[in-house]
Amino acid sequence: EERRKVISDSIRVVPHFPKEGIMFQDITTLLLNPIAFQYSIEDFVEQYRDQQVEVVAGFEARGFIFGPPIALALHCPFVPLRKPGKLPGETVSAEYQLEYGSDKIEMSVGAVKKGQRVLLIDDLIATGGTLAAGVKLMKQVGGEVIGAGCVIELPELNGRENLKGTPLYIQVEKE
Ligand code: 5GP
Repeated sequence: EERRKVISDSIRVVPHFPKEGIMFQDITTLLLNPIAFQYSIEDFVEQYRDQQVEVVAGFEARGFIFGPPIALALHCPFVPLRKPGKLPGETVSAEYQLEYGSDKIEMSVGAVKKGQRVLLIDDLIATGGTLAAGVKLMKQVGGEVIGAGCVIELPELNGRENLKGTPLYIQVEKE
């Protein structure tokens, strides 16, 4: 449909960033196009409007751009999932594997309560490691992840398989 095409066309591909051989999908050009940005947010809101979402959680850093407008439209709190050491106070964390080594995401204790229906938002799913860590983190605090939404999927990396039962909604596929 037209909306997806506008979103897709607004994403710039930057070869060899941040490393040789990587085709980086750059969403900052989407943000420069207010029609494309609005289409993206509207599309997420329509997708999740009737799913009784209670919390929207977004991943540092680009999930902090798409998550909050979705949370406001759905009348939900927004919870930032941050890189280690950034959040003050008590945190819970979940680890995930990278190509070399591992990384962690953290959330403030009490931000998500037992039984709350959580929507995870990020800009892009590659291997699915980040979203899977978000699912793990929510499980630790008793949150129920009702879905994960991303603007972009790189389907060749089969990241969906890492999400097990969590339904994934994406707006555009890229190679
Ligand atoms: P994954 O954990 O699924 O392998 O990687 C997804 C995470 O890495 C997301 O948080 C996403 O922001 C970031 N990422 C990986 N590749 C790209 C890319 O090409 N473009 C953008 N915008 N983010 C990427």
